[in-house]
Amino acid sequence: MNLDWNKTFQKILKSNKIALATHVHPDGDAYGSLLGMWHLLKNNGSNVTAFVDHTNHNGKYSFLPGYSELIEISQDNHEMYDLAVTLDCGDKGRVTGSEWLFSHSRQVINIDHHYSNPMFGHENIVDDRISSTCELLWKLSVDSKINISKEAATCLFTGIMTDTGNFLYENTSPETYRSTADLVEKGADSETVKFHLYHNKPLANIQFLGFLIQQMQVLLDGKVIILNISREILDNYGVSYEDLDEFVAFARDIKGVEVSALLKEMKDGNIKISLRSKSYFDVSELAQQFNGGGHQRAAGAVSPVDMEKTREQLKNLLEIYFQEKYYDNWNT
Ligand code: 5GP
Ligand code: MN
Repeated sequence: MNLDWNKTFQKILKSNKIALATHVHPDGDAYGSLLGMWHLLKNNGSNVTAFVDHTNHNGKYSFLPGYSELIEISQDNHEMYDLAVTLDCGDKGRVTGSEWLFSHSRQVINIDHHYSNPMFGHENIVDDRISSTCELLWKLSVDSKINISKEAATCLFTGIMTDTGNFLYENTSPETYRSTADLVEKGADSETVKFHLYHNKPLANIQFLGFLIQQMQVLLDGKVIILNISREILDNYGVSYEDLDEFVAFARDIKGVEVSALLKEMKDGNIKISLRSKSYFDVSELAQQFNGGGHQRAAGAVSPVDMEKTREQLKNLLEIYFQEKYYDNWNT
C-alpha cells in the first residue's frame, strides 16, 4: 500500500469533526463503505457524522448496523466540518449533497476505486485495481492496525460481496478473498447479509423481471441487450432504484451477450444509463461518451435527451465500437 495513503488515513483518524458521504443512489459498496467507515471512526473515538440521501429508496440496506444513524443532508445544517471524506464516489458531481458538503468542510479526502476518478479531493486514496471501496477500507484499517468491530466488519463484507457480484467479477483478487475471510473472522454477520440481499427478494421485482424479459431488445447478433424502463412502468411495478442493477446484470449473464444496457426514465425526464459488460468491452469508455464514467465492466451516465434518442445514440455507438475496436471479439 502506498505510504502516502496510510498517512492520509492517519490524518482522518486524528481529525476532530468529520463528515462522511457517499454517492447518490447508494449501492451495497456505497452504504457498506459509508457505514463501515462510520463504525471505524466511532470506535476510534472520532466525532463523525455520516450523510445520505434516502430519496426513492426502499430500505434494502436498512439491515446494516448503524443505518438508522445516517443523517439526511439538509441545507439548513450550518455546521462546519474539519474534514469531509467521500466514499465510493467516482466523481465530484456524484457525491450526495456535493455543493453543501464541499462548502461546509475545510478539506475533502476522496476514498474510491473508480477507474475514471478525476482525483477531486484535496487528498485522494484511489485504487482502481481493488474490488471495492470496502476492500480498500479493510486494507487501510489493517495497515493502520485499528480495531475492526463486528459491525464495521458486516458493513465492509456487504460492499465486497455486492461490488464483486459475489466474487464472480474479475475485480476479485486473492486479496479480496483474504479480506473477506478476515472480516468473517472479525465477526461479520454473513448470514444476515446473504439473507437480506439474496434470499428475500420482493415478489414485485420478479414479476417486473418477467416484463423486462418480454420486451428486451437483442442487438448485434446477440452481443448486446438493451432494456428500457419508463417512469410509468417503474411506478406500476413499485420497483426501487436500488434493485435495478440486478436486472442489468441478469441481461449480461445471458450466453453470448457481452454488453447489457438499462435505460431508465427519471423523474426529471433525463435518462439514466446503466452499462455492464462480461469480458472485454470497456463500458466506462462508452459511458464517458455520455459524460458518465465507472469501471470497465460496470459504468453509467445520465443522458439529457429522451428515451428514443438516447437508445439511438447508444445503439450507434455500440455498433461503432464493435466494428472498430472489438471487431475480432465480435467475430469469435
Ligand atoms: P450503476 O449502473 O449501478 O448506476 O453504476 C455502475 C457504475 O457506474 C458505478 O460504479 C457508478 O459509480 C458508475 N456510474 C453510474 N452512473 C454514473 C454517472 O452518471 N456518472 C459517473 N461518472 N459514473 C456513474
Ligand atoms: Mn464501489
